[in-house]
Amino acid sequence: MGKEKQTKKVNEAQNTKQEKKKLGLTTKIFIGLLLGALTGVILHYIVPSGFVKDTVIINGICYVVGNGFLRAMQMLVVPLVFCSLVCGAMAIGDSKKLGKVGVKTILFYLVTTAIAITIALGTAKIINPGIGLDMSALEIAETTIAEKQSFADVLLNIIPKNPIQALAEGNMLPIIVFAILVGIVLAKQGDRCETVGNFFNEFNNVMMDMTMLVMKLAPIGVFCLIAKTFAGIGFSAFVPLLKYMSGVFIALGIQCFVVYMAFLKGFTGLNPFKFIKKFLPVMGFAFSTATSNATIPLSIDTLDKKMGVSKRISSFTIPLGATINMDGTAIMQGVAVIFAAQAFNITLTPADYITVIATATLASIGTAGVPGVGLITLSMVFASVGLPVEAIGMIMGIDRILDMTRTVVNITGDAVCTTIVAHQDKALNKEVFAAQELTL
Ligand code: ASP
Repeated sequence: MGKEKQTKKVNEAQNTKQEKKKLGLTTKIFIGLLLGALTGVILHYIVPSGFVKDTVIINGICYVVGNGFLRAMQMLVVPLVFCSLVCGAMAIGDSKKLGKVGVKTILFYLVTTAIAITIALGTAKIINPGIGLDMSALEIAETTIAEKQSFADVLLNIIPKNPIQALAEGNMLPIIVFAILVGIVLAKQGDRCETVGNFFNEFNNVMMDMTMLVMKLAPIGVFCLIAKTFAGIGFSAFVPLLKYMSGVFIALGIQCFVVYMAFLKGFTGLNPFKFIKKFLPVMGFAFSTATSNATIPLSIDTLDKKMGVSKRISSFTIPLGATINMDGTAIMQGVAVIFAAQAFNITLTPADYITVIATATLASIGTAGVPGVGLITLSMVFASVGLPVEAIGMIMGIDRILDMTRTVVNITGDAVCTTIVAHQDKALNKEVFAAQELTL
């Protein structure tokens, strides 16, 4: 990156700092989150059910405003992922180099996922979430069994038969493949296809600006989404499952604040606290929406503007991570396995544990970055070691709150791996990371 461009980035970061002082978007998002939770709890426990509460407030205002915000963010995902990937691949140009970045990223994703499940199994073995469970206090919901797809088909589906269909349906992996190919070919064509290249670059900028525009609505959107969720959740359902929930929370905390931060410090030397503070708005967004996919635009933008991670890398690794790297989901699945085994008095052998690590890694790859899918792919993990799928029904009622939390870990893992890969590929501008002071 040229000197001029670097200075521009640092200035940009400083400008954002000034802007932030004025706007305090992070603060606003968190105020929205807390007030939303409070309002939801009040609605659930204090306000009596009726037309005004149920139809006007919860399913009217909160639903429309909250989901309107979420949809506006989702609207940007496919065009942004496609354009920024084409630009990223074009910038890297060399397909060998691109392959190296890809292999390194996938390796990081797999290793962190395997660590995540191991931590989950270890934590659950200490907490014993299923022992002494009062089954009569549980509400058991009906469970869905994950559709089975052969491994060969999963692999084949990565190549889009019809890229327009993949774009229309938002199928991330085929979109990634097609966009990378377009980018590589454009880079090879050089000046001959300059106009097309410029188009993607400029359209990409438009999508980035739109992301920031939509994010201005975040405090209100987050407030409504959280208020609606909490208004629907009764805490009494949590009581018999408190041990299970705390097992998931503890393992998520270890993965997010110990494993990732050790990786970050070890590989890049960046200050983990600063990283987390800068990344908080993205975490808040992921928490309120419980969807990795919708978080992609904000994540790429934050990594670019606040951390100095080149979009050349993040445009590729973030959508890929949002699709295949679900460490938080793997953690929930690890704890759920021990929980179900204990609740149903099934003894797991060491071989079973290895099977769980392998299948939960695969399940994490197969989990789409949208709310609640981790619970569906859990049936695949249960089936691999002969646990009854009915156990999923026991945890379904309280899964939303875990889904929100694990999504935070899912996207933080993507961001940390991205920063490391960018650092190794000389695409991390540490001046940008250092330039922006922390204003919450
Ligand atoms: N909601 C999660 C995500 O989007 C996936 C899941 O675990 O259900 O990352």
